[in-house]
Amino acid sequence: MSIGKITGIVIKEVKLKEADKIITIFSKEMGKVQLYATRAQNIKSPFLAGTQLFTYASFIYSSKNSINFLNQISIINGFEKIKFDIEKIYYAMYFLEFLDKSVELEYPGKMMFEFIVNTLYTLDGAKEDVKLIRAIYELKMISLLGYTPEVTSCVKCDKEIEGDNYHFSFEDCGLLCEKCIEPIDKAIKLNKTTVYAMQYIIYIELNKIFLFTLTPEILKELRLVIDGLIKININQSFRTLDFLNEI
Ligand SMILES: [Zn+2]
Repeated sequence: MSIGKITGIVIKEVKLKEADKIITIFSKEMGKVQLYATRAQNIKSPFLAGTQLFTYASFIYSSKNSINFLNQISIINGFEKIKFDIEKIYYAMYFLEFLDKSVELEYPGKMMFEFIVNTLYTLDGAKEDVKLIRAIYELKMISLLGYTPEVTSCVKCDKEIEGDNYHFSFEDCGLLCEKCIEPIDKAIKLNKTTVYAMQYIIYIELNKIFLFTLTPEILKELRLVIDGLIKININQSFRTLDFLNEI
């Protein structure tokens, strides 16, 4: 038997009979890890609060026969403001579902961990612009997963885009200049501000990533590009998204 300690966010919970639970943590140390929480659904269990979705905590566990049994939790933040706002709950659930479905078990991702913590703190304190938080989250995740689109120069000839002629090709996953663009590329024309927003999200330090706003028109265009990138690169369906698209 070995003992381990991780710091992370509960991104999934599966309730079992006998009041047990299997929780999936996205941790700083090891990426995605599963822990078996005995009697965690019991109202008197010391694990009751700490094994709920979105909880940010340190977890001590012991491994036996390749199962990690939860021994102790110290909660860092339960993100209570998210839990009392139905819209925020669904956004947070979507962020976690996205993470769970796009990352393998024990795929180390320290930067991804910092980003998800940062995103939940931002969502917790957000008064408006929740749709922008979603767009930033998705594009940065796509980039951290290794599918960064080319948003600084032409994806075919590598030259800088001249003037305001920004066209984005999903096929080539990046911008195309006037000379390289062909009808077969089915590229969409983008506003300069949309391209700047994408550059900012992909290349700025994590602690500044949420510090900007966009007009509804630009956000709509950014949404279009991100939807296309998710379809091509992530190729998953998210059950939380059906609800989100209605609100
Ligand atoms: Zn070109």
